[in-house]
Order: sequence, then C-alpha cells, then structure tokens
Amino acid sequence: MTDRLPEKLQEKLAERLRFYEDVGIKEFFRHRVSSTRQNFENGISEPDSAVTMTLQGDIIPKTESKAAAPSSRALKNSTPLPATPSEAPALITSIPKIGEGTLLTIREDIGDCIRCKLHKGRTKIVFGDGNPHAKLLFIGEGPGRDEDLQGLPFVGRAGKLLTQMIEAMGLKRSDVYICNVVKCRPPENRAPERDEVAACSPFLIRQIDLIAPQVIVTLGSIASQTILETTRGISGLRGQWLEFRGRKLMPTYHPAYLLRNPAAKSEVWKDLQKVMVELGLEIRKAKPAQA
Ligand code: URA
Repeated sequence: MTDRLPEKLQEKLAERLRFYEDVGIKEFFRHRVSSTRQNFENGISEPDSAVTMTLQGDIIPKTESKAAAPSSRALKNSTPLPATPSEAPALITSIPKIGEGTLLTIREDIGDCIRCKLHKGRTKIVFGDGNPHAKLLFIGEGPGRDEDLQGLPFVGRAGKLLTQMIEAMGLKRSDVYICNVVKCRPPENRAPERDEVAACSPFLIRQIDLIAPQVIVTLGSIASQTILETTRGISGLRGQWLEFRGRKLMPTYHPAYLLRNPAAKSEVWKDLQKVMVELGLEIRKAKPAQA
C-alpha cells in the first residue's frame, strides 16, 4: 500500500519538522497503526505519536518539557523596569479611553496619515491583521519592505517564521492578531524614532484595548522597550511575565533576529510555551523515539 502524503502536505511537514529541530525537538516518530493515515486526514490526534496533525494539516509537537506555569508570583517577582520616560527609547503618549470604537473606526481615524515623517516613504499603512477578538496579540517593530507593499504585517521572511511559530503553538495566524509599534515603514528598516512612535502609539493602544487580548507578545527589543518604556535589552527582558495596561506581556526575540541567529529559536520556544500554558493550549510531553 502506498502511504504518501500529498506533496503540499509533505512540504509543510518538512518545513515544520525543520522548525522543531531548530528549537531542539529532534525526536519524531509515527505510531504504527493501520489507522494512522486515516487519523491524520481526519485531524484526530494520535495519543502515542510525537506529533499531532489537525484537519488543516497543521502539525503540533509533543514538546520535550512542560513549560513552567506562569503565575501571579512570576509577575510579582519580575524585576522592576526602569520606566522613566527620559530613559525610554520612545514614548507611549495620549492614553485613549478603553474600548473606544471598533478596529474599523481606529483605521478610519488614522486616515491617510501624515502625523509623522514616515508617511513620506510609505507605500501602504500597515494597520494590523488577524482576529479582532484574539486572546493573543503579537506586536512587532514596524513594517519592512514586503509589509509596506502589501499593507499587511509580517508577510516577509520574518513573517513566515512568525507564522511557523504561531502554528507550532497549535494556532492559526487567523486566531491571533498581529500589529506593529509603528504603522509605516521606517526608511532602510531603521528603528522607529521617538516622535514616530509617539504619533502612532495612541492608535496602537486603542487596538490593544479594543482587542483586549489575554496575552501580548512583544517581538524584539524595539517593540518590548517601547511598550514597556524601558532601555533594558531584550535578552534581559525576554521570557518573563510582565504587564502592560493590566494585561500579561511576554517579551521575546524578533523573528528577524532568529533568522540571523537560529540557535535562539529554542529560547523563543520556551517563551511561547509559557504563553501556551497561560492560554490553556496543549503542551504534551514527548516520548522517546521507539525502536
Ligand atoms: N518586522 C516587524 O517588526 N514587523 C513587520 O510587520 C515585519 C517585520
């Protein structure tokens, strides 16, 4: 009997397995039961296999270790951040009322924005994308070239990796919401400047309040430092539960950094596992490969 998966699924599986290998999950095996393929196609998880595939062909690993459950203790014990505006790289200003309008009204309020100099070089405003009721919100730094052309966040190489990370958590991109600290592409992909962040931040805060996510993940130092108003480096910030406007916030490395430093993927995976625990997503213990 030939037991080949469709080519597209094979490619997706290979790509996903590479991601898991990069984050340190190296042992995979298929449970040898006659219903294996049927179960794969029906999206039924196999209790003893190292991976689970959903109806959409998404593959969820059984991770090697259970992430430490975040607790209010973790939040309380998190190291206090220097938060004086003078130390901070940029400014979150003008805090609007909670739950103001809808995402559409926020977008309409932005209009054909010329509030800061970034408008001069942009092709499209990158407002944000995803589920307006998402429990999980990812915030990046600012659009790059691909995002500027398409008007969507994280659609380039770093975006592809972010999508893999989201899928590795057992979610789809459409389950989460993704946006950036600034909505227009900074020239040459430089970090957004203080006045640019200040011009955009009221809209970001309205988005956050409206989506009301259970967890915010800030991607990279710029997003994390800006939101938290700190100058502390991302390696000191990442992996710990912090708080922003009453919501749990997990800083982690930016996917673009991971493209340059694949070894750091395992650190990000640890951070995301903490988020998975907080969101009640399934984390299963991997079993050793069978002979
Ligand atoms: N990097 C970001 O920070 N945001 C994007 O949307 C794309 C790349």
